[in-house]
Amino acid sequence: MAKSIAFVYSPEYTIELGGIERYHPFDTSKYQTVRDDLIASGAARAEDFVAPAEATVDDLLLAHTRAYLNSLADPLTTARIAEVNEVAYFPAAMIDKGLYRPMRFAAGGTILGARLALERGAAVNLSGGFHHAKRDSGGGFCYYSDIAIAIERAWRDRPDLKVLVVDLDAHQGNGYESIFADDRRIGVFDVYNRDIFPEDKPAEKFIDFPHPIRSGTDTAAYLALVARELPPVLDSFRPGLVVYIAGTDVFEADPLGKLAMSADGIVRRDEFVFREARVRGVPFLMLLGGGYTTDSGPIIARSLENLLRVDMRPAP
Ligand SMILES: [Zn+2]
Repeated sequence: MAKSIAFVYSPEYTIELGGIERYHPFDTSKYQTVRDDLIASGAARAEDFVAPAEATVDDLLLAHTRAYLNSLADPLTTARIAEVNEVAYFPAAMIDKGLYRPMRFAAGGTILGARLALERGAAVNLSGGFHHAKRDSGGGFCYYSDIAIAIERAWRDRPDLKVLVVDLDAHQGNGYESIFADDRRIGVFDVYNRDIFPEDKPAEKFIDFPHPIRSGTDTAAYLALVARELPPVLDSFRPGLVVYIAGTDVFEADPLGKLAMSADGIVRRDEFVFREARVRGVPFLMLLGGGYTTDSGPIIARSLENLLRVDMRPAP
């Protein structure tokens, strides 16, 4: 199978922090599950995955203040952002190795993914989408804004590049929204459950195409909304890159997203966004975002297998 979509992955993505996974619904090995499933199904070979470099301090400073980065050395800050009190008792060095370092590789993966999307047309980082991290604070298990860091890096070579963030994670993407604020090079299309975290009203002002939905929104209603609202935005905003945050926390069994999407619905959703970008010739970068059931990894793998299949066929 010829691979038209670049897959970015590193074994360094896996978070190992003294059993943190027992305290947080975050599936800390989701990335590896996706990669292993893709190989097991024959959709990809081990050599198809491109490994990123770890994001450097200079990279992190593209989206964060030095004071915030310094504050992460305090385990209390780490614990607050992870919403796991036990982490406050972990040594700082252990937190850096087991949590921050994987997160820096994830940010490196989004940087590389954006570059590969612009070069080849489509890329997927099998992590990333940490959309609650702001310039001077973290939240909701998001420490570094891989999204803002990667876009800022892309702007170094192409300062006029227009980027549409299509954020279909169940949560509002308040982090990058507040980082980019009114920057006219960024368009934000955000479908989010208004009934759950973060309910960030100041950041909502920076959503260009806001679509707040209610808990329990089902597959048919969700897909109809995206099918109706996204194409005109692609046509009017005319981005040079789509960054798609494909959160699987919209899944019906997800304890945090509180929406009612079926697994099939998620596969169809991802295909729709992918096709709409591809038929317009817009480079496409997909990030995994949230997803807090053990079904997340297998659903993402199924969806990526489907994207590889649809990309072989000409658009209808
Ligand atoms: Zn989410």
